[in-house]
Amino acid sequence: MNTQSPLSTDHEALMPDRRLYIGGQWVEGPSEFQVMNPANGRPVASVSHATSAEALAALDAAAAAQPGWAKLAPRARANLMHKAYRLMMEREEAFTKVMTLESGKPLTESRAEFLLSADFLLWFAEQSAHIHGSYSDSSSGDFRVVVKHQPIGPCLLITPWNFPLLMIVRKAGAALAAGCTTITKTAQETPLTGALFVEVLHDAGFPAGVVNLLHTTKSSGVSEPLLKDKRLRKVSFTGSTGVGGLLMEQGARNILNASMELGGDGPFIVLDDADIDLAAEQAIICKFRNAGQACVAANRIIVDRRVEAAFTEKFVAKVKALKVGDGMGAVDVGPMISARQRDRLGETLKQLTDAGGQLLAGGKPVAGEGYFFEPTVVRFEGRNEVMCSNELFAPIAAIFSVDGPEAALAFANESDFGLASYVFTRDLSRALTFGERLEFGMVGINRGIMADPKAPFGGTKASGIGREAGQEGIYEFMEQKYMAVTVNEALS
Ligand code: NAD
Repeated sequence: MNTQSPLSTDHEALMPDRRLYIGGQWVEGPSEFQVMNPANGRPVASVSHATSAEALAALDAAAAAQPGWAKLAPRARANLMHKAYRLMMEREEAFTKVMTLESGKPLTESRAEFLLSADFLLWFAEQSAHIHGSYSDSSSGDFRVVVKHQPIGPCLLITPWNFPLLMIVRKAGAALAAGCTTITKTAQETPLTGALFVEVLHDAGFPAGVVNLLHTTKSSGVSEPLLKDKRLRKVSFTGSTGVGGLLMEQGARNILNASMELGGDGPFIVLDDADIDLAAEQAIICKFRNAGQACVAANRIIVDRRVEAAFTEKFVAKVKALKVGDGMGAVDVGPMISARQRDRLGETLKQLTDAGGQLLAGGKPVAGEGYFFEPTVVRFEGRNEVMCSNELFAPIAAIFSVDGPEAALAFANESDFGLASYVFTRDLSRALTFGERLEFGMVGINRGIMADPKAPFGGTKASGIGREAGQEGIYEFMEQKYMAVTVNEALS
């Protein structure tokens, strides 16, 4: 722990080092910036700010460490990751409280994210000694086809604020298991959670340069010099579609490998044969987790007209019972990440009601300190294009009453995005037909939460390229090496 003076004394003992982590050392940046608590608008801590100089120093370190890390026996890499997992599990209180302080999410959600992230790390540790290759005959039969997977090289990992731990673990865990060195750029709103994770890796004994950490208020000042540098071999990004596209453009000159986890417009479909209690309960989790600031959130709740009244009644009653407040207390919904994010919701709501939406609950900011917005429900009669490709990213639920499964499916697919989708039905054939015909990378069937270390997470269309987690998640950080081998079969 470093010695910078704390701005919030209560949780000082839980705080990570606030400096940058480059080449195995915690180093000061040229200046500092403040991390704010969105529940009260007050500073939580000051962290070091990185510029292009620190970014290039991190790449120097990552490039120097790459050959040794790639060569390390898979079992040795796995052992380090197992050790990091054990250390992480000892630090649950720090992770959960710090995550809540800087992101605002309720402690119960921080704890759930912590446990899921630890599970991801454990899974990557287990997989790192199970990287496959193949050996086969060429089609002509004249030679052998030998294929092995090799680490792609130093990677830039850019993470968002809404899942400040899960995103770094899902990227760094896969990259490290694959044998890549990493430079993580945290989101300026939530650098502390990322720093706690990097402290765990440091304490577990990862070699210098394998893991590097940058915080900054000027992301492009860090990413641009790295994307221009040929030593960087991959960028893995989670965030908005606009920034993802920009990073791909910037990396294009060097034909940089890119994985993109971008925005969503999740349809949450409730068919007429669904278990309505289950659908209403799961819709609450899927919509209001993280105050709606999740790429996989239920953005359009599309309900068959025959059950819409029953669903809406149950759903609205649950929404009205949600307790909003500082995540350190016993609440269901925390604040928006910033005043700016909260303030845009007045305009968003006006857009929805102008388009014919009927307000059934909530509808305004919560008075007092912090960036809270009331859990809100707007209902539409029929489909409405105002909500096609319009990611709310807010505690605002939009319900649409539609005529039957075909209309539900057609409206669901009316989107530029293709990340998560959901369908509720008791009929197996209907569930699988929806599963196959929804133009989304992921389909939750009778469930509103899907993330799992074993499952390939990712989207189609404007929601991104590539998959995180699952075996695929590790191979995203590897390249295939093909060797054509002439074998002289004569034994003498
Ligand atoms: P954002 O794109 O503004 O920021 C994401 C990250 O990119 C942050 O670290 C930010 O500092 C950085 N960034 C911003 N501009 C940059 C630049 N020019 N160069 C380099 N880095 C830059 O998005 P956000 O507001 O943090 O998150 C909201 C969006 O992210 C939503 O659209 C949401 O759906 C999406 N998201 C997607 C997933 C997923 O897995 N698909 C997960 C979470 C969030």
